[in-house]
Amino acid sequence: MPTYKAPVSDTLFLLTDVFDYAKYANAPGFSEAPIDVVEAVLAEGAKFVEEVVQPLNRVGDIEGCKRNPDGSVTTPKGFKEAYKAFVEGGWVGLAGDPAYGGQGLPIFLSVLFGEYATAANLAFAMYPGLTNGAVAALMAYAGDELKSRYLPKMTTGEWTGTMNLTEPHCGTDLGLIKTRAAPQADGSYAITGQKIFISAGEHDLADNIIHLVLARIEGAPPGTKGISLFLVPKFLPDADGGIGARNGVVCGAIEHKMGIHGNSTAVMNYDGAKGWLVGELHRGLHAMFVMMNSARLGVGVQGLALSEAAYQNAAAYAKDRRQGRSLKGAVEPDKPADILLVHPDVRRMLLEIRAFNEAARALMVWVAISEDEARLSPDPKARQAAEDRLGLMTPVLKGVFTDYGFANAVKAQQVLGGHGYIAEWGVEQFVRDARIAMIYEGANGVQALDLVARKLPKDGGRAIMAFSSEVSQFLAAAKDEAALAPYVGGLRASFGHLQEASMWLMKNGLADANNAGAASYDYMHLLGLTALGYMWARIVKAALARQANGESNPAIDAKLPLARFFSERMLPETAAHLARLSSGAASVMALPADAF
Ligand SMILES: Cc1cc2nc3c(=O)[nH]c(=O)nc-3n(C[C@H](O)[C@H](O)[C@H](O)COP(=O)(O)OP(=O)(O)OC[C@H]3O[C@@H](n4cnc5c(N)ncnc54)[C@H](O)[C@@H]3O)c2cc1C
Repeated sequence: MPTYKAPVSDTLFLLTDVFDYAKYANAPGFSEAPIDVVEAVLAEGAKFVEEVVQPLNRVGDIEGCKRNPDGSVTTPKGFKEAYKAFVEGGWVGLAGDPAYGGQGLPIFLSVLFGEYATAANLAFAMYPGLTNGAVAALMAYAGDELKSRYLPKMTTGEWTGTMNLTEPHCGTDLGLIKTRAAPQADGSYAITGQKIFISAGEHDLADNIIHLVLARIEGAPPGTKGISLFLVPKFLPDADGGIGARNGVVCGAIEHKMGIHGNSTAVMNYDGAKGWLVGELHRGLHAMFVMMNSARLGVGVQGLALSEAAYQNAAAYAKDRRQGRSLKGAVEPDKPADILLVHPDVRRMLLEIRAFNEAARALMVWVAISEDEARLSPDPKARQAAEDRLGLMTPVLKGVFTDYGFANAVKAQQVLGGHGYIAEWGVEQFVRDARIAMIYEGANGVQALDLVARKLPKDGGRAIMAFSSEVSQFLAAAKDEAALAPYVGGLRASFGHLQEASMWLMKNGLADANNAGAASYDYMHLLGLTALGYMWARIVKAALARQANGESNPAIDAKLPLARFFSERMLPETAAHLARLSSGAASVMALPADAF
């Protein structure tokens, strides 16, 4: 049976030592969460997910969700009770607005707790995760009436939320949406159409499910400029805000799929269902982007979370399993064989996973804090810088973290050899569960395009220039710090590759759009690796400072060899990314379509 222990002390080290959390002590939003509160919340959250949520991960995978003949969906055994405890513990509304029953803590805390909940049980964590995204969109765009009717129950998680974009003929290209919304005399809309692949679309965890649905009214402009966003509840609230009449939306089927079996992926049929406009008419995609951006970061965290869970189980296995002898002679001659960890290739696999995880966690913390700064900082410059960082890094977290999440789950499976392929060890579930994160919420190829076509050129390239200037200043200062030298060589080279790649894109992407398209995936990974390298450099600086204070802590000491491994064995990949992307689109586009 797989196990999971939330890495609370690593998260705290990142906050206090790497990102100097003390400097936010009096900042709006952060002052609600001094470090002792942060520590208590993370420790309590870790205990909760380890004891209540993680034990349901395998049950959820084996049992899956079941659709009943009346269209209702039964979640796996134990999910309902665990979800009730999740709501009662205040975990859904951790960062929710106190005006609606939330706890008013900073968003970053909810993101960091999200890593633990997701690593414990991805399928389960998606129910509250989607609800939080829907709440964010309603907070930003719903009118007062809708807010007061729905947000108190959604903020706490008593009612859950969903995101309805996809239709059978329309996935990435949302301009093709056909679902219709007909205006009614009472100001509501009648929604008709079919949505597919709707995560948490129907289930038995909550009394009501609130769907956020993209649809178009008659006569709306074609394409994405004619889409509006509607709130469509499963049950219409009665006069007291309780459960009223059933609305015209039913789950027609649930999908049988590769992983996340504990999360229901539903076909939702809307037949004149009553809905209410959220935000402006024809500006629905704009409003939905609040939910999509929150979901993209959440999905990025899924990549890290599964990579961490997979690592923990593979490392434990490698410490226990005995096969063969060390290449340099038996390490434990009195035993029939040495443990797997004596083999350099097994170490390579584990180190590749862990060196990603610890830097990715740092990048996640940095970006999550930026979410709060972008909302609440009183300094307009700091707000803008945080907003830029968030925008630039969102496709990186989504695209790069989830690619590594899946690849790392496969590596962890490899560490277990044949046992990794056998269900009872649980690592093959991580592989199956991690795969979807590369696809949904905008497939990773689309994230790469978003980065190259929108995020890079936005505001004259301000976001990438700010990131580059920060790394460049760090590297300049590092020249005078001899202790840092063994750890930043890889970053120096990768940063050079990133600059070359950005220049190449500016010149060649504008001249031929296919150049930008063909370069985008490599560029996303090149930026991702460089950002992770920068995180390692900052982690090393903080770890060296602890050591200089005479502290001896194995977890902190381990940062140094891990940083060196990342610098010497993982960052060189950026050279290949640069070489590939700067070869241009010619070889990619040469084969005619009918030759495929
Ligand atoms: C388990 C699961 C849960 C899901 N949950 C939800 C949900 O809750 N709500 C919801 O609305 N949807 C959900 N989805 C749908 C998901 O977001 C889509 O599957 C995804 O966005 C891709 O759309 P598609 O499947 O239609 O693929 P397509 O859009 O057909 O894309 C196919 C491939 O072509 C590439 N591609 C497409 N267009 C372009 C382009 N312009 N440039 C470059 N490459 C391109 C894509 O990257 C992809 O690799 C879910 C899907 C699954 C499987």
